Amino acid sequence: MTQKIVIVGGGTAGWLAALILGDAKARPAGHPAPDITVIESSKIGTIGVGEGTTAIFRQMLQHFGIDERAFLAATGATIKYGIRHRDWRRIGHHYDGPIDDVEAVAGQGIDLYALAADKPLADAHLFQHLMNRSRAPVAARNHREVPAGPYHHAYHFDQSLAGAFLKSQAPGVTLIDDQVQSVNRDALSGDITSLGLESGQEVTGDIYLDCTGFRRALIGPLGANWVSYGDILPVNRAMPFWVDLNPDEEIDPFTLAWAQQNGWMWRIPTQGRYGCGYVYSDAHTSPDAAQAEIETALGHAIEPRNDIRIDAGRLDNAWLHNCIAVGLSSSFLEPLEATSIHGTIVQLMWLARWLSDAKGRDLHNAAVARQVDDFRDFIRIHYVSERRDSAFWCDVAATHPQSVQDRLAHWAQKLPDRSDFNDFPGDLPHVQEQLYRPVLDGLGLLNRQQAKQVLARDPKRRAALRKAHGQLTKDYKRAAGQCLPHRAWLNSLQQDQAL
Ligand SMILES: Cc1cc2nc3c(=O)[nH]c(=O)nc-3n(C[C@H](O)[C@H](O)[C@H](O)COP(=O)(O)OP(=O)(O)OC[C@H]3O[C@@H](n4cnc5c(N)ncnc54)[C@H](O)[C@@H]3O)c2cc1C
Repeated sequence: MTQKIVIVGGGTAGWLAALILGDAKARPAGHPAPDITVIESSKIGTIGVGEGTTAIFRQMLQHFGIDERAFLAATGATIKYGIRHRDWRRIGHHYDGPIDDVEAVAGQGIDLYALAADKPLADAHLFQHLMNRSRAPVAARNHREVPAGPYHHAYHFDQSLAGAFLKSQAPGVTLIDDQVQSVNRDALSGDITSLGLESGQEVTGDIYLDCTGFRRALIGPLGANWVSYGDILPVNRAMPFWVDLNPDEEIDPFTLAWAQQNGWMWRIPTQGRYGCGYVYSDAHTSPDAAQAEIETALGHAIEPRNDIRIDAGRLDNAWLHNCIAVGLSSSFLEPLEATSIHGTIVQLMWLARWLSDAKGRDLHNAAVARQVDDFRDFIRIHYVSERRDSAFWCDVAATHPQSVQDRLAHWAQKLPDRSDFNDFPGDLPHVQEQLYRPVLDGLGLLNRQQAKQVLARDPKRRAALRKAHGQLTKDYKRAAGQCLPHRAWLNSLQQDQAL
């Protein structure tokens, strides 16, 4: 029987849901296409931030056969190879987290060798060299563009343009522009039976997706419980703002995460501007003082676009009765490492399989809890800093959770590897050793002495890894040097689409 799915919310989460749940390839074989209705309200805006993705976004575009070039041109997006973390370990220090998983392609041991040889882990990463030189992910050869390497990059985009693009790619969806005012439920089961809209219309479905962002317009009335991470994650307020990007300026293909006295600032370049924001602890500073602090750091005035309060955490059960919360309604931590849209895509891929599974609800709830808890621990580790220059950093240093301390004690003995992480449902991309290593290395938390000892016991392996590491570093440096300048390549895509 055809399943009727009602999605409420037309932000990034709502349109990703329409796209992924409507996809024939994502659902189990033999299952008919669902009937999808999206209810979005043009009277209620989307969150208006959320501009950095992970590599999963590109994999998704490819899966749907969406032309990356058309996407970049339509959304003003730019390429992201990773994150530059400035002033996190100490003021004046920076480290990069390139997101290409080199060991998955070149074999295990490359990071171990770099560590033992006192080299930055990022040296043997193609994306590090592309970041350093602000290059596009392609080189031009014989009038053709060839990819720089086998890795998926990520994007920076304008959230509203990306939402509109996703909407244009979700065919066969019934669209209603209206506002949900009442959630009607079966007295016995508690399931949602229909939604009452402002216009008086009533909409029925089998499954309801709550993609209404922080409003939680569906799952809230069902009595969902929020698991707060407020005692673990130190920032709880965000002040987004924009900064002009000079049309002649080269565009950094990375997110800048710049630690400040009371939190950190993000800077994300799109083709037309920088989307920025200060995420801070309001227990340590006020909005006015935060604005003054960031203006001093930048050397110019800013115009805050919003004042967003963040209650970091997740629902204890994202799927309650016949309602599933996806996107900000389900969880949010903070912008560091762009976990939110990534997490949403993974959750929707699970749902495409589990919506028609009798055990689907339990599987989904356990998987989402595991996913978001893992994001929380990964984000918290970024705050293990040598900084003590403000009450914020002193308080953070005094309150590292036991789970973080245990992990650090474990990784002080050995380099993180896959055996430190339990299998992840569906084998989908997740925070594991490949993401932890550059952060731990950048913060000076890896044990170089231990890596030296491991390789000293196996000189043959050390020699092979030295050769592989040297070759990769040389090849990737050269490949990056041959790639087109980032800005010029993005401009050429705009021109191509205009023809
Ligand atoms: C400060 C900040 C920075 C962030 N940075 C990043 C980042 O760099 N990378 C990343 O991956 N994520 C980031 N995020 C998260 C990201 O913004 C969200 O994951 C993403 O935009 C999805 O939002 P959403 O669709 O869940 O909610 P929203 O964008 O809030 O959309 C909600 C939708 O629901 C509709 N709606 C609400 N109530 C009703 C109703 N009663 N009836 C009908 N419709 C209704 C609204 O009209 C809207 O269409 C950030 C978030 C914040 C707060």
